Amino acid sequence: MKDAQQDPCAHCEEMMQPYLDHILTEAERVEAEHHLDDCEWCRRRYRFEESLRTYVRQAVSEPMSSALKAKLAALRIPLN
Ligand SMILES: [Zn+2]
Repeated sequence: MKDAQQDPCAHCEEMMQPYLDHILTEAERVEAEHHLDDCEWCRRRYRFEESLRTYVRQAVSEPMSSALKAKLAALRIPLN
């Protein structure tokens, strides 16, 4: 059994979400960054995950702010 023969990309993928959450240990973060430096596939995947998170944050915050605007508008204009 060669259990040291772990797929580095699979390992990197496992660390991707905790990496984006900034919850990895220093050693894990260094390992992930080292792999991202070497591996273009994982680097693209990382950029995709990162932009997806940015997009989700915007998608979540926009309906909230427009709902808030509607509330404020309703308060300003009295309904007779
Ligand atoms: Zn990789």
